[in-house]
Amino acid sequence: MNSVNIEDKDFEIYLENDQINKRTRLIGIQLNVDYENRCPILIGVLNGSFVFMADLLKEIDISCEIAFIRISSYKGIESTGTIKEAFGLPENLHNRDVILIEDIVDTGLTLKYILEKVKQQDPASVKVCSLLFKPKALLEPIPELEYVGFEIPNEFVVGYGLDYNGLGRNLKDIYRAV
Ligand code: 5GP
Repeated sequence: MNSVNIEDKDFEIYLENDQINKRTRLIGIQLNVDYENRCPILIGVLNGSFVFMADLLKEIDISCEIAFIRISSYKGIESTGTIKEAFGLPENLHNRDVILIEDIVDTGLTLKYILEKVKQQDPASVKVCSLLFKPKALLEPIPELEYVGFEIPNEFVVGYGLDYNGLGRNLKDIYRAV
């Protein structure tokens, strides 16, 4: 599909599933090398990251654990800038190698909040792996953001786990608003 319509908005194709899979494979290889013999815990940030997390895990062949946390801070098409709460953060992160898995880093506020919470548990290391990253929207640098699938401009995207008003998460490819 070259374009989709969700509610009042039109979207055009931006990143095809094949492209996403190729990039994901490379990130997986990198993680296999960087985390060999470290048994990291991968924590997916719901809801958006669930598709990426599933595909990424299939490329990871080292021993690892997985968990998910949930944060809701985003309504409609612009960030509200207000973070609610994190639900389900594991409580046993002391001395662990933690990898946060995100769908997209926009202002970075969500990530900043999660990183603070994780660091309170004194883990051995924390890194972030995000499928998408909007560098121009970032409010302050995030040194932990080590693995990025694609850097994208400040445009609203849907599909492959990302939603517009709750819809579009099931699209195979990623689309941008036109
Ligand atoms: P941040 O806190 O970095 O501004 O926003 C992160 C969250 O905002 C993401 O996890 C995602 O839920 C949402 N978000 C930011 N940009 C987009 C976008 O272009 N499309 C969608 N669907 N969600 C976005």
